[in-house]
Amino acid sequence: MEKIPLLGLGTWKSSPNQVTEAIKAAIDLGYRHFDCAFIYNNEKEVGEAIEQKIKDGTVKREDLFIVSKAGDDDLPKDQNGMIIASETDYLNTWEAMEDLLSEGLVKAIGVSNFNHKQIERLLNKPDLRYKPTNNQIESHPFLTQEKLINYCHSKGISVTAYRPLGGTSDIFNEPIIKKIAEKYNKSAAQVLIRFHIQRNVAVIPKSVTPSRIKENFQVFDFELAKEDMDALLSLNKNLRLAQFPGAENHKDYPFNIEY
Ligand code: NDP
Repeated sequence: MEKIPLLGLGTWKSSPNQVTEAIKAAIDLGYRHFDCAFIYNNEKEVGEAIEQKIKDGTVKREDLFIVSKAGDDDLPKDQNGMIIASETDYLNTWEAMEDLLSEGLVKAIGVSNFNHKQIERLLNKPDLRYKPTNNQIESHPFLTQEKLINYCHSKGISVTAYRPLGGTSDIFNEPIIKKIAEKYNKSAAQVLIRFHIQRNVAVIPKSVTPSRIKENFQVFDFELAKEDMDALLSLNKNLRLAQFPGAENHKDYPFNIEY
């Protein structure tokens, strides 16, 4: 089974003219996992940075875990551009991804934003060749996702937490998070990242700022005590920041059930 480095660098909204330097700095610092997607419109620049770092001998391709995402370009849409794909369309996409894996073109395949029922349906697919390695979902102390994470782990599926810093929300100013950060002499961002690592959940904070890319990687020299982990978990209010507006009425919208 392919191993996913627990800490990766997110690249959504990393502008093409900043992302190359960000990736190069991250590789120099030790990041080996990069979360990318064609729709982030910066994959070419991400690729250039990786190529340069392989060429200069800093890293080998086989040491990098690079995530991309299947686009929705080929899925059927209505006249307003809304996806109207059926379950069969999604399952066809999964089969195409299985082909990539069996041809050795990718190291692992996974899903994102799947709820536990959707994962269950995929696992029960009669001719399933490969189960998903990973489910990438939003998670932070305001959306702890314990049930979904436990479900995935019980099925041998790893989880990656996206938007771990809450994007642009004010999660950094939450008093309990600030207090825990002070206790360990760490930043709120470092506590938010460490929180996932201790749950055995991969985490992909995004930054294009070299000092923050460095700060976000300095999370392996401290350990949150159980009481602090519990305090972070108690902040859960099922606050979902990534709601994918416009998709709420799709029959497969994943966020209408508890987990
Ligand atoms: P994050 O929670 O990673 O927050 C990113 C923001 O935090 C940026 O504005 C960044 O600023 C800032 N930041 C980063 N580090 C620090 C720090 N140490 N101190 C203060 N501010 C900081 O949000 P994202 O939404 O970007 O999520 C992370 C990644 O998850 C995405 O980039 C993407 O790869 C993935 N994702 C996947 C989704 C999916 O549906 N599968 C949906 C959403 C995200 P700056 O860059 O200016 O430093």
